[in-house]
This record gives sequence, C-alpha cells and structure tokens, in this order.
Amino acid sequence: MPATDTTADTAADSRPTQHVLGACPHDCPDTCAFVTTVQNGVALKVQGNPDHPHTDGVLCTKVSRYTERTYHPERILQPLKRSGPKGSGRFEPVSWDAALDDIAARLRAIAQRDPQAILPYSYAGTMGLVQSESMAARFFNRLGASWLDRTICATAGGEGLTQTLGGKVGMKVQFFAESQLIVIWGSNSIASNLHFWRHAQAAKRNGARLVCIDPRRSETAEKCHEHIALRPGTDAALALAVMHELIAHNWLDHDYIARHTVGWEALRERALQWPVARAADLCGVPAQQIHELARAWGTTQPAAIRLNYGMQRVRGGGNAARAIACLPALTGAWQHRAGGLLLSSSGQFPVDKTTLQRPDLLAAGLPGRQPRTLNMVQIGDDLLREGSPPGTPGWGPKVEALVVYNSNPVAVAPDSGKVVQGFLREDLFTVVLEHFQTDTADHADYILPATTQLEHQDIHLSYGHTDVLLNRPAIAPVGQARPNTQIFRDLAARMGFTEPCFADDDDTLCRAAFGDRVDYDQLLRHGFATLDLPDAPFAQGGFPTPSGKCEFFSQRLADAGLDGLPDHVPNYEPAGSSADYPLAMISPPARNFLNSTFVNVKSLRDIEGEPVLEIHADDAAARGITSGMVVRVFNPRGEYRCKAEVSTRPRPGLVNGLRNWWRKLGLDGTNVNQLTSQQLTDLGRGPVFYDCRVQVAPSA
Ligand code: SF4
Repeated sequence: MPATDTTADTAADSRPTQHVLGACPHDCPDTCAFVTTVQNGVALKVQGNPDHPHTDGVLCTKVSRYTERTYHPERILQPLKRSGPKGSGRFEPVSWDAALDDIAARLRAIAQRDPQAILPYSYAGTMGLVQSESMAARFFNRLGASWLDRTICATAGGEGLTQTLGGKVGMKVQFFAESQLIVIWGSNSIASNLHFWRHAQAAKRNGARLVCIDPRRSETAEKCHEHIALRPGTDAALALAVMHELIAHNWLDHDYIARHTVGWEALRERALQWPVARAADLCGVPAQQIHELARAWGTTQPAAIRLNYGMQRVRGGGNAARAIACLPALTGAWQHRAGGLLLSSSGQFPVDKTTLQRPDLLAAGLPGRQPRTLNMVQIGDDLLREGSPPGTPGWGPKVEALVVYNSNPVAVAPDSGKVVQGFLREDLFTVVLEHFQTDTADHADYILPATTQLEHQDIHLSYGHTDVLLNRPAIAPVGQARPNTQIFRDLAARMGFTEPCFADDDDTLCRAAFGDRVDYDQLLRHGFATLDLPDAPFAQGGFPTPSGKCEFFSQRLADAGLDGLPDHVPNYEPAGSSADYPLAMISPPARNFLNSTFVNVKSLRDIEGEPVLEIHADDAAARGITSGMVVRVFNPRGEYRCKAEVSTRPRPGLVNGLRNWWRKLGLDGTNVNQLTSQQLTDLGRGPVFYDCRVQVAPSA
C-alpha cells in the first residue's frame, strides 16, 4: 500500500486506480486508518492501512463492507419530504432549495418565539470532529437552540475516570502486548475492540494471564484463562473486595501510594468494609475467585486493566469506574508502561473545540444567553413534556423542532415506547440528516441525504489509541448527498447568519481542529500522526487532577455533596427486587453491527441473523422455552417479542437482548429498548441500559 494519499497503479482491466487515505468514522475505540481503492470515480474496496501500526492492515468485518453500504440500493440520494401521516415512512422527493427554504422558515418562526424550543440531537454516527460538532455546533450556538447533553454512551465511566485520574487518560494500548496480567473488565473485546485483542493475544502467547469480568460468557471471556461472571451492577463491590484483599495481604506499593495518591486512609477504611464473602454474595461469584483476582493483581507486574463501557451502564456506573481506576495506583502498576488501566484515551488529544464550535456565537444572537440543557437519554420524556408558561422560571418551552444528525434515537434511546410517542407528535417539526431511512428517519418531516465517510473530509481523534487520523474524500458525493457541514452552512445562509465562520470550508475546519499541535502536512502525507506522549504517563505521578495525584478521595465530589470515596451503588432494579420481573437484562451491541449502523447491510445481517434473546438453559427450562421459540420479554415499561436462544452464555438469572436492531426489523416493529429505562447514572448523567429487570414467557 502507498504511504501517500493518492497513487496510481494498474488494475486487471488496465484502467488506473487511486488509493485514498481515510479513517474509520464509527464509534469504536480502534479508529482504524483505511485505504480506499478508487477506479473511474467508483470506490472498489476499503482496506486497512498497513502502514498504520494500530490498524496493521486489518479492518473488522463491518467496515470491510463499507462500499456495500456506500452504494446500497436503499441509500437516500435526494431530499425527501413527508407525504404520509407522521411515522408512516412515506416521503416524496423535493429539491434541496425547496427543502432548505422551508426548513429555515420553520426554524426561524420557532426561534422568534424561543430558540430553545429547537433541539439538535446527535451522537457518534460519525466520530469525525468536523462532520459531527463543528459547523453544526456553530449553527445551533448562533441560533440559541437548547443544548444537548451527549450522554448516551460514556459519561458515567468518563466522569468516574476524571474524578480519579483527572481525565480520559491511561496507558497506551500497544503496551498491553507486554503485560503479564490483563484484566478485561466489562468488554467483549473480540466484538468491539478487535485491535486491542490482538495485543492481548500477543501477551497471552508471551505467558500473560487473561481474566475477563462480564456477566455473560462472551466470545472474549471464553478465550481468557478466567471468567468472572458477576451480576450486572456489582463491579464496584468486586473492586472494593479486591482492595480488601490487597490490604489484608499487604499486596500494596506503599511508596507509590504515599507519593502519588490522595485519600489512602479513607479508602482503606472503605475497602475494609468489603470482605470477600460480602462481595461474593452480592456479585454472585465464588469468594475464591475474588481472592485469586486480588492475588494476581497484587503479585503480578506488569498488570493492566482494559476497562470498557459495558460495566458503567447501571445506576452506580460512575462509582464503579472510580473504584476500578484506584486499583493500579494501589499496586504501583503505573510504573511500568505495560501496567495501569485504559478506559479511554480521548482526553489526551489537544482538540481546539472553541475554534471548531464557536460558543461565542451564543452572544452574537443575544448577549449573556445560556440555553437550557436537555439530556439525550431522556428524549422520551422531554418530547412529551409541556412547556412552562413564557416568562416564568422552569423547564422552558415545549420542544417544537428536532434536528437529528449522526444518530438514530428512535432505535437507540431508552424507553423507546415514549420516544416513539414523542416523535409521532403532529406538532413536532423533525429534520433528519441520514444515509438511510432508519426508524428515526421514518418519523421525519424532511430527510436530508448526508455523505458517507468516503465522500467527505474529516479529522479524527481516537478513544482507544493516541493517533490523529485524517480522512480524505475518495469519491464524489453519491446522488445529491451533501456533507453535514455543507447542510448547516446552507441553512445558516438562509437563516441570515452572516458571521464569516459560516464560510469556513472543511479543510479549514480540519486544520483548525488541532491547530499547530499536530503536523497537518504529515496527516496529508501519511493519513495519521502520533501524539508525543510518555510511554508510562503516571510512573512518577503527575495525574491531571487538581492535586496532581490519583484521587482515591475526590474533594470535587465531596464539595458537590456526593461521596468523595468510591462505593457500591445498588442498581435501580437490583437482583431480588421484584418477584414479577426476576431476570436481569443486559443489551450489548450485536457483533456485526455498530450501534444501529450496518443493520441494513444485507451481508452483515445475514451473518447476524435476527434479533434474539439469549436465556440461560435453567431459566428457559423453568419457563418451557426452547431455542427458536418466540418469546415475550416484558416489564412495566413495555413488551418486546423475539426468538429465544437458549444457551449457557448468560449467567443464570440473566438474559441478553441484543441492542440496536432497527425496530422495523423486529417482530412487532419494536426492539429491546422498549424495556430499558430513562433513569440516569450516579455520575455523568448517563443511561442505565443494563440496569433493567424483565420477565420472559413463551409468546401465545
Ligand atoms: S469499526 Fe472499529 S475495528 Fe472496525 S474498521 Fe472501524 S475502527 Fe476498525
């Protein structure tokens, strides 16, 4: 493969081909560099960039099919206007000018009453800094729209990490290959962090012990030496019991603790309240397994934790991340480059969000303006809320308009019965920027065709490694598709926003994202640039916390009236809390989809099959359920029907409803989010998808 962005060689049919350097845009820690082979303006294939060490020439199955998705026959190729009842999915073609003129007129009329009645809704449909929150953020800041708290994935763990280590920081992923003990905590790495798994495999070949902590025996768990199948929402208790054992057996690095941590005595007292037997009972795992985990953690160097976001999707997710993040400092694991912890590396990137998003534009509309913030997890309730009377304090205006981009909330937001009810409101004006007619697009008043990653320019950070990646457009936009940035530029012009920043093109935005902190010429030449960071970032302390130390005790949390120490925070719906709904349900993503993206790619759906509910053989037998039988899964929030898959992968008492299938592909036009709740985590205001009790029965 070439090292430069475009080269020419000779294809079998003798027409010249180009190789264009790009980056995977999807919500995955691996952030692969890819190379698109283009012939005669058509993308022939997308392959991993062999020159990028993290990618190492390998993409996952999903993104290897990127051309199938790009040229999918159901791709939306022109603007569409609703022609049937709300939610009917019936649309008619309309010109860009007609669509944009009408959208701008509708938004302007609402904004004249109160711009906070307009809500942007977006997340990680693309992780690109430019096609996500650059021109879009400028547009909504200038408009004075409600702010969106973008919490649907990672904020509980992120906040837990920030309160303990100072940010989304940690060890470099490649050094896991040198670890002697790897604890994979809350992650099915084979499905969702493939390139980390390659390092874990290398470590295993070198004699490392691999331990997986997950309520379900995932593909990853069964390839590890040890699997600890704890109950969902008990991770903090497990971590505290490990601390108890570290203390009891003096498997501690007292020197590191004294020099580089805050709150040791208080944490010690807290941990001593968690003897192994107590945690074993709560977590539902053998006491010996907890003891062995502690012994391994306390006596092996280098030892590392690959923490992932699965464990923080419960009420106590923030505290759980805090408790786990204390473990490396207790044993001095950070002193080795192959020791410590990695949840996310995204806090290490020097992104210039102020320049990209221009929060100062708020004042251009109205000096001192500070819009309200709505949490994306609670979109179901918020769309159904009445406004508070004008001029009175309170929640503010009813949501009158939604502009959705890079997200599919009707499929992915919790408590989706309410979400759908909200999207069906006849008085809600909804614009959706999309590639396909998703569940959310079905509910739009306008669908605007957006470009895919092969058709636009973007720049990326990663939350799994420490390289910046540049994505160059490989082909012209398909049909009439436009980049998100262009759509918001066009709308800004129609709204009369005259600030020069609305004329910035995508290359200008890409260059602004990191300014002179990243060598843009190197990005143009190679497609990636590695941040200059130390190999063992906290070997000598220097955590980016207020104290500069690992904060076992967080004064910031205490000042906010919260517990300054990590603790076990019980689930909203803990084990044994309901005789009517005795089963715990988790809903990790399907392996061959990425959130709700790729669900409509036939070759991937053929692999994935259909939405199923995994249920343990004991629980299935007790209910007369066999594999392939259609079952009802229900709780007070709703009901969902799908086929059962009887297995021993979930622990007894646990079912696994695979998340993010499109609702319209479900048996009754629903998916598993019919059952999940809109409650929030202890820290970070995140969702509690895995804090959910249900009952399962054969469908009549
Ligand atoms: S989804 Fe992840 S593993 Fe697949 S190509 Fe993208 S970054 Fe790589």
